[in-house]
Amino acid sequence: MTYDWIAALVFVGSLVALMKFFHWAVFKIPALEEQRRLNHEQDGRKLEDPEFKSWCEASMKTGTYMNLAFYAVVLPWCVSLDSRPLWRHVVDIAAILLVFDFMYYWTHRSLFHGKALLKVHSLHHRARKPTFIDAYYVHPLETAIGLGLFLFSIPIVAWAGGAPVHAFSAAIATLVFTEHNTINHVYTNLPYQPYKWLNYVTGVHAAHHVNMKQGNYATLTMLYDWVFGTYEKPVHRPSAG
Ligand SMILES: [Zn+2]
Ligand SMILES: [Zn+2]
Repeated sequence: MTYDWIAALVFVGSLVALMKFFHWAVFKIPALEEQRRLNHEQDGRKLEDPEFKSWCEASMKTGTYMNLAFYAVVLPWCVSLDSRPLWRHVVDIAAILLVFDFMYYWTHRSLFHGKALLKVHSLHHRARKPTFIDAYYVHPLETAIGLGLFLFSIPIVAWAGGAPVHAFSAAIATLVFTEHNTINHVYTNLPYQPYKWLNYVTGVHAAHHVNMKQGNYATLTMLYDWVFGTYEKPVHRPSAG
């Protein structure tokens, strides 16, 4: 493998463009724009607490520095622009997300909910009624571990597949990881089609926040919670506050 800085730049450009397009398209939909307003109302109240705000800022800073360091030092070794069939893009994206979710499941269950890092993780669990901003109400050490697991799932998949991952595939996987982690914490009250799946996604992570004894340890799919017997039914609340 070679240090392909052009592929890494294409990764960053694609990721920024995909995120901007995703947010622009999603909030064109009035029902979702209304949910965003409800979340921001609660977020504003939470951010009036200087301690809450400083934890969120510390988590964001940690995430930004880790991403930049990884994109400059590690990523160029594991991405390329070589063309490949569509199925290979799909397999690589799915592999990155499933490898990460497996590592995250066991880290969350055994370290964050075990003795080792319970205190660190309990900060995030202070959010009993999560809204958008609670995706960032995470101790910087937890941010570093969680994000680190995702970032290193890219070299793991490149190594296991015997070739660098396409820069665009890596960008799609990163988009899904980032947006899914945010959506997990968003308050939604949309128990009708075509939003039932979104209500399900927010409800299963809301169930994890009810108390620290709840399951639903994975973050992207409930696959590992089903397999290892820690699945909890989604919970919903009538209002965001
Ligand atoms: Zn937890
Ligand atoms: Zn959470």
